[in-house]
Amino acid sequence: MLEAVLALGAGLLVGSFLNVCIYRMPRDLSVVRPRSFCPACNTPVAWYDNVPVISYLALGGRCRHCRARIPVRYPAVELLTGAAFFVIVLPLGFSLAAFKLCLFSALLIGLAFCDLEQRILPDQMTLGGAIAGVALAALEPFDFTLAQLFLSDWGPRSLSVLEALLGAGFGAGLLWFTGAVYRRVRGREGLGFGDVKMLAMIGAFLGLRGALQTLIFGSVFGAVVGLIYIRAARKDYATYELPFGTFLALAALLIAFLQSPAFLWYQGR
Ligand SMILES: [Zn+2]
Repeated sequence: MLEAVLALGAGLLVGSFLNVCIYRMPRDLSVVRPRSFCPACNTPVAWYDNVPVISYLALGGRCRHCRARIPVRYPAVELLTGAAFFVIVLPLGFSLAAFKLCLFSALLIGLAFCDLEQRILPDQMTLGGAIAGVALAALEPFDFTLAQLFLSDWGPRSLSVLEALLGAGFGAGLLWFTGAVYRRVRGREGLGFGDVKMLAMIGAFLGLRGALQTLIFGSVFGAVVGLIYIRAARKDYATYELPFGTFLALAALLIAFLQSPAFLWYQGR
């Protein structure tokens, strides 16, 4: 329980950093410098106004200086990341498996909000995440890989790296192909290349099967919610750009959790 509470605290801080990334990465600004400032009045944010969730509540959701509204996305991302880390570390403890799942969740939360707000999926998160996913596959091997049926003399680490590479390559390739077909048939852009790179990242973390499940579930989910939204908000079918990355992120989060031993632990209770 202590570990889970510490993970909650770490998740709130990581969420706070994700907020910086969500605002700055799509705008090509450095995430390191300058320190946090109010986008309305440019006043630097003091440390006591930058405490996750608490500062937002204390300030009533407004900048201390110019009273501009702080988007509710700030405390939401902090709470979501904190909750995800807590739910992961409670059953798994401080383990490599928990670290991998926490990192994956943080990347997905960041990408979900970047796409929702800016329709951009930053390379730092997609390609950077894909590299991290392949590296972590060597350290924390997958339980089962399709390749072990054919390459029985390979060790679990090499098989896992192969699985991560296959997941990244095949998942991204399939999505790229779908996009190319759509472009030919409809004569306009259906998906961005950011979605393709994002699915490579997801495949690197979840493997081949997980990447395909994410693609199928994310597409169906995005289509259903997208159609309902377009009708309800009276948007134009032809021009509305669906934040597909946000739906991929939700699908991947769900599948990562269902695949992990953490889910079995919750079921057993
Ligand atoms: Zn301000």
